[in-house]
Amino acid sequence: MITLVAATNNPHKLIEFREILGENYDIKSLNDLGLHVEVVEDADSFYGNAYKKAKAVCDACGQAALSDDSGLIVDALGGAPGVYSARYAGRDGDDEANRKKLLKEMAAVTDFNKRTARFHSSVVIVYPDGRSISGAGDTEGKILFEEKGDGGFGYDCLFYSDDLGKSFGEATPEEKNSVSHRARALFDLLAAK
Ligand code: IMP
Repeated sequence: MITLVAATNNPHKLIEFREILGENYDIKSLNDLGLHVEVVEDADSFYGNAYKKAKAVCDACGQAALSDDSGLIVDALGGAPGVYSARYAGRDGDDEANRKKLLKEMAAVTDFNKRTARFHSSVVIVYPDGRSISGAGDTEGKILFEEKGDGGFGYDCLFYSDDLGKSFGEATPEEKNSVSHRARALFDLLAAK
């Protein structure tokens, strides 16, 4: 059994880490360890922010820490919201406001085929001896005109997955994890080990 501390305050990411990595991994939460770690995500890359989070948690608890930094990249918006996905509308983690802003910004793009987008995930493990390993993954899709489904989190109900032929909000956890940016990033990281 490999134990990793999930360097995230996002309960959805924690659940997905556990689902994707399966029973050979014991993924502890910050709560499990009674840790409270706030990291200023001011790097200009997904990798930079992911490294910062894993390093801070590893330093705080002395155990290997796993983090994900992820976001939605929309072609018609020049790559926005990108690394700012969690605070697109201003307040960090206000998913509903972020989705509302995304729909507003995309209102002028009326051709569904021009609403192309991808989720990106960068994952990093930092070990107590200072070593680190990383992986990255993407998943392609389009921004819907309205929310579909109520599964998942964040922008899931606005993201039509090209692989699944439906929104991530309509997908089961197994379906999302079979094609998601986070799963692809974790498998990329494990392959690099
Ligand atoms: P961060 O990695 O904590 O900076 O936040 C990533 C943000 O990107 C989240 O708050 C979501 O808004 C969005 N995001 C990342 N991954 C997903 C996903 O799997 N589904 C939906 N939204 C996501």
